[in-house]
Amino acid sequence: MHPLAQLDHAHVWHPFTQMQDWLQREPIVLVGGEGTQLYAADGKVYLDANSSIWTNLHGHREPRLNRAMERQLAKVAHTSSLGFANEPASLLAAELVQAANPSLDSSQANPSLGKVFYSDSGSTAVEVALKLAYQHAIRRDISPQPRFLALEGAYHGDTVGAVSLGHIDLFHESYRGLLFKSDRVMAPYCYRCPYNRAQPERGDARLYRQCQWECVGEVERKVASAAGQGHPYAGFIFEPRMQGAAGMVPQPDGWLARVGKIARQAGTLLIADEVMTGFGRTGNGNGPEPLLFASHHEGIQPDFMALAKGLTGGYMPMAATLTTQAVFASFLGRYDEFKTFFHGHSYTGNQLGAAVGLESLNLLREPAHLARRQHLEKILGERLQRLWKLAAVGDVRQAGLVAGIELVKDWRTREPYALAEQAGIRVCEAMAKQGVLTRPIGSIIVLMPPYCTTDAELERMVEVIETAIREVLGSGVI
Ligand code: PMP
Repeated sequence: MHPLAQLDHAHVWHPFTQMQDWLQREPIVLVGGEGTQLYAADGKVYLDANSSIWTNLHGHREPRLNRAMERQLAKVAHTSSLGFANEPASLLAAELVQAANPSLDSSQANPSLGKVFYSDSGSTAVEVALKLAYQHAIRRDISPQPRFLALEGAYHGDTVGAVSLGHIDLFHESYRGLLFKSDRVMAPYCYRCPYNRAQPERGDARLYRQCQWECVGEVERKVASAAGQGHPYAGFIFEPRMQGAAGMVPQPDGWLARVGKIARQAGTLLIADEVMTGFGRTGNGNGPEPLLFASHHEGIQPDFMALAKGLTGGYMPMAATLTTQAVFASFLGRYDEFKTFFHGHSYTGNQLGAAVGLESLNLLREPAHLARRQHLEKILGERLQRLWKLAAVGDVRQAGLVAGIELVKDWRTREPYALAEQAGIRVCEAMAKQGVLTRPIGSIIVLMPPYCTTDAELERMVEVIETAIREVLGSGVI
């Protein structure tokens, strides 16, 4: 075994990993990368088909991002935001505000997102939104005991507050005793819709049998019942356009616009968790200017926007929570009123992270980069079509540059694999042997290529998904 792998086995405890299994296999030790490729210590070369757990936007060792970090390193790596401002954090905040406030449909109520609170990860970005919304609701008499509404299958991070908003029982149930209660409501999961409206077996997941928006009705009832009891929800948290950790589940067009309006009419603030969806991941629009955030694709301007992962192009652990002047104002007062937001982290506003984040935004705005992403979205859709023919594939879903391929025992009945059968894990292991790295969510294979992926690399990723599924689950075709 490689000496680095030995050290790993001796000391490193990996996230979301059954270490008993981990210790039985030699791990792939990654030591380098360039563009879409990752290099292992044993000389093998891999394609990074999930953008290093959804973080990397422009590829590894992107020359402009590298230079931006080097320029910043020549100045200073980190200074504290407790008591001091800094150059890249100020510039990045201004750019984020600009990107987060495109002119939306004028019929929407559009409180603008003008304030940026920095932190370190997606979990902390959500935690900040939660705490701000909680205090805001109390101070503005929205509710004396603020409660939150989240979606079924919600995942918003692993800190205790973020876990309280989560509704994936496998991850969250064992901590119930530690958590505060949040309400859950049905999320659209068309493939497994209890009203059985979708017919993805026909090769088009967007074919609905007279969908009556029952899922929207459920949100409406939930929100109305809370408001009827005199306690409207302080916040409704959602991943816009696609739920990631729930299994890459896209929402049908119009769902978010509808539920956003319903929540807002009840006086509930909208908390958009754009940790996975942001920075063009779930789509860039067709226009000459990129629409970088998923909420905006549905004409929704939330009251909070949580950003992380792609914020620094996948280079540095940095996050931001954007919010409105109205929320900001709830924390203003004389010093001795103690309305201060008593929250922060040692690395808040990190200079290296902000410098690379700024350059990443510059890249995202360049017409050639935008055109490339729009092209990649299109060919991803085309290439995925070949997977429908596999009997072990129940659903193939896509939002922008993200795809989820749901493996099933029987495509006719949509019978799922039990988690213990590790269908997703086994397929991903077979993919790794063929040089393509990704990580499953249960029985869902995730494909999330970095934006620099070439047509040929994308072709290869999809081809390897197909051969691995055939190898592991049988080569049946429909
Ligand atoms: N929200 C969403 C939607 C996520 O996908 C994730 C991470 N997968 C998080 C929050 C938590 O982010 P982090 O792992 O950076 O804490």
